[in-house]
Amino acid sequence: MKTIGLIGGMSWESSVVYYRIINRRTQEILGGSHSARSLMYSVEFDEIADLQHRQDWARLEEIMIDAAQRLERGGADCVVICTNTMHMFAEEIIAAVKIPLLHIGDATGEAIANGGLKKVGLLGTKFTMEGDFLKMRLAEKFGIETIIPDESDRETVHSVIYNELVKGEIKDDSRRAYLAIIDKLKAAGAEGVILGCTEIPLLVSSGDTEMGLFDTTALHAEMAVQFALG
Ligand code: GLU
Repeated sequence: MKTIGLIGGMSWESSVVYYRIINRRTQEILGGSHSARSLMYSVEFDEIADLQHRQDWARLEEIMIDAAQRLERGGADCVVICTNTMHMFAEEIIAAVKIPLLHIGDATGEAIANGGLKKVGLLGTKFTMEGDFLKMRLAEKFGIETIIPDESDRETVHSVIYNELVKGEIKDDSRRAYLAIIDKLKAAGAEGVILGCTEIPLLVSSGDTEMGLFDTTALHAEMAVQFALG
């Protein structure tokens, strides 16, 4: 079994879910009292969120590279960045360590392609929805077209993530707002919706809507298990 290296704490509310899924799936596959070998380097999220909103990308890149190198020195066999947003530095991290990076976009793209979908909606932080790093990967590697909510809906999705979900606050009003946005994406032609922020599955899940949802936390954690068990 290989050792999974996790960059967590973005936020820890979703890192807990990664940890649970990775160990649960390992136990399901291997049986008995098996669990996953892993290392987690967990950041201080207030610092990260502050740097993101001040758009200090240079400092964030340094922190992400440092985290990946700590995992490598600690004996991890791979790097798993437990957030969509910080995949904006995936290429820089790949260049800075020798161990492979398991990309959240690849876990997601494979699931969408396996489902035969071509056009999907994307919910996440503004950085993820408005940036190219995830959308381009889905387009170039998997031929998947991504659409995003309009500006005011992006603001809603973003503020619920940073003001509620990362603090563990799960509100019915916010769930209703997200479901209304998912309906609009469907009306705009989306065949499914990517929950492209690792906290969103804490708020919305497949039981809440007819729309096919792609839970990036679960897909990414499963990718890590498959890597570790070979
Ligand atoms: N966990 C979130 C994501 O998947 C947002 C928190 C962050 O900024 O990293 O994008």
